[in-house]
Amino acid sequence: MATMEKGKLSVHTENILPVIKKWLYSEKEIFIRELVSNAHDAIEKVKKVALTEDIYQADDDAYAVDLKLDRENAILIIEDNGIGMTADEIREFIANIAFSGAEKFAEQYVKEGDTGIIGHFGLGFYSCFMVSQKVEIESRSFKQDARSVRWISDGSEEYEIGPGERQKRGTEIRLHLNAEEASEFTDLARVSGLIRRYLDFLPIPIRIDGAQVNRQKPLWTQQPASLKKEDYTEFYKYMFPHQGDPLFHIHLNVDHPFRLQGILYFPRLAHEMDLNKSNVKIYCQQVFVTDQAQELIPQFLTVLQGVIDLPELPLNVSRSYIQNEPVVRKIASHIIKKVADRLTQECKNNREEYEKIWSEIAPFVKYGMLSDESFYDQAKDCLLLEVLGSDESRKLKTIDEYLSESKDPEGKRVHYASDLQTQGQALRMLQKQGIEVVHLGTMIDSHFTGFLEMKRGDVKFVRVDAELHEHALDKDADSQILDDANKDIKSRLQEVFQKAVSNDKVTIRVEALKSDEVPAMILLPEQQRRMAEMSALWGEKENPFAGEHTLLVNTKNGLIQKLGRPGLVGADGSSAVDEKKEKVARQVYHLARLAQGAAGPAEMEKYAQEIFSLLQEMV
Ligand code: ADP
Repeated sequence: MATMEKGKLSVHTENILPVIKKWLYSEKEIFIRELVSNAHDAIEKVKKVALTEDIYQADDDAYAVDLKLDRENAILIIEDNGIGMTADEIREFIANIAFSGAEKFAEQYVKEGDTGIIGHFGLGFYSCFMVSQKVEIESRSFKQDARSVRWISDGSEEYEIGPGERQKRGTEIRLHLNAEEASEFTDLARVSGLIRRYLDFLPIPIRIDGAQVNRQKPLWTQQPASLKKEDYTEFYKYMFPHQGDPLFHIHLNVDHPFRLQGILYFPRLAHEMDLNKSNVKIYCQQVFVTDQAQELIPQFLTVLQGVIDLPELPLNVSRSYIQNEPVVRKIASHIIKKVADRLTQECKNNREEYEKIWSEIAPFVKYGMLSDESFYDQAKDCLLLEVLGSDESRKLKTIDEYLSESKDPEGKRVHYASDLQTQGQALRMLQKQGIEVVHLGTMIDSHFTGFLEMKRGDVKFVRVDAELHEHALDKDADSQILDDANKDIKSRLQEVFQKAVSNDKVTIRVEALKSDEVPAMILLPEQQRRMAEMSALWGEKENPFAGEHTLLVNTKNGLIQKLGRPGLVGADGSSAVDEKKEKVARQVYHLARLAQGAAGPAEMEKYAQEIFSLLQEMV
């Protein structure tokens, strides 16, 4: 064997720190990413050089990275037919840790804006010492007169360098694995898994023992115009298996003020959203970096799935780096803008399709707007309200459409129901008058309506049972009652119900409604109910219907009319009939509470007892 020269690794205290840090923070497996990326870079480099210079073994264009797993000898080999290194280059690029060879190369060969080379690996090569007791490099440079060179290091300061035996152009790195890691990193399934995780999209074949492992087709780098919807769907299914088809996608392509390419998908939200997990995979020039980049993706967008490629991102992204990097905030706000634009566009130009997915994306859009006002400002036109038809049908309208088509005299109230069962009566009453009612049934809606009122200033959300809509009143009938012989029917009813309810938190309001169906209903002022709902969120379980509210008594209704007739006073001066009316009136109030879901379990039981004894009196 040829004589080997001794050398000393040039490590300075000021540049060893990042190395140590990296070794402490990174997972061991990333050495594969680093070495294969280097091999890929070496191939990209030789391809470029071949354009202008005579290179050694120029006819060899079957560029590939080959891994060999030698289980028996605990050796992992990574070989490329790239640019290779001369002895001087090894000394400079490999042995001098402080030096970043890619930078020098970039100055020499790569024009500005060229993206073929991953120049951000820092001290990538040295990560192989996390798993190796000894590392050998055999390399043959592309230069015609170059000689093969061999470098051996055990990771200590001293290395050996001398002539090698490699004939082919390129580099072979032989890792003599530590006993602990040997079986892991010579395991075919494990190593293939790592290649697929980190290097699936590198544009050259990566083979293990001759068989190609990587997929090679990064969809995000292609022109959106050249892609069909199916391409995006297929890619999604490859990246995120078992999730069904996505709702839609957004293709990102930014040049300024930072470079970014990617595809974000809106998935079907089959389960509750897990907002602590990011579903976006971050790549740097097609090399996978992390899927733990919550800082990069605004929190409310973590439901999105997809890939983002940041060619300028240092690959060794650490938490603290990401948090302190101003560009990260810019990236986040760019993504927000893109998502908002896309939603607005869809709503405007593709309304039919947009309406189909609205119910699935609505909670996310609302949550996003609540958590990031800039998202609201940019996406506000994509909001839809679900207008309830009198049958089961639903129509979707924007707030502006609703307001401009509504019969509201002030033109700014949005009438809504949050529970179609308990607010059914009030809801139907409004609908009969031709007033449109929207359904706001999710947890988030009660916040969201308040938020919209604040942001827009021109809209008020009123729950159907919050107040009496002027359209529901029958003004003529009301005056008729007054003109009638039974002039005081209203005041009599007032009195009967006052006594029957006997609660000073309840205001009795006697009115003629257009409809005669409902004898009475409960009105709970919007603001008051919202406050009760808020305190319920803070854990104070207070029934909003226990506080002040109004009992609306409908003089159009037959039962109420009977109750309003003058009562007979008994011969002995007792008012047995009035008492009976009072009992019935109390049940009217109770049943209104029950129908509107205002009664708790204890209350219900009490009401049932009262009704039983009333029935007993009847038979
Ligand atoms: P970085 O890639 O960030 O420069 P590395 O420590 O990973 O840091 O590599 C240092 C340098 O060594 C590279 O820039 C490159 O010039 C050279 N190098 C590493 N691996 C190879 C290889 N397989 N073929 C040719 N040159 C390589």
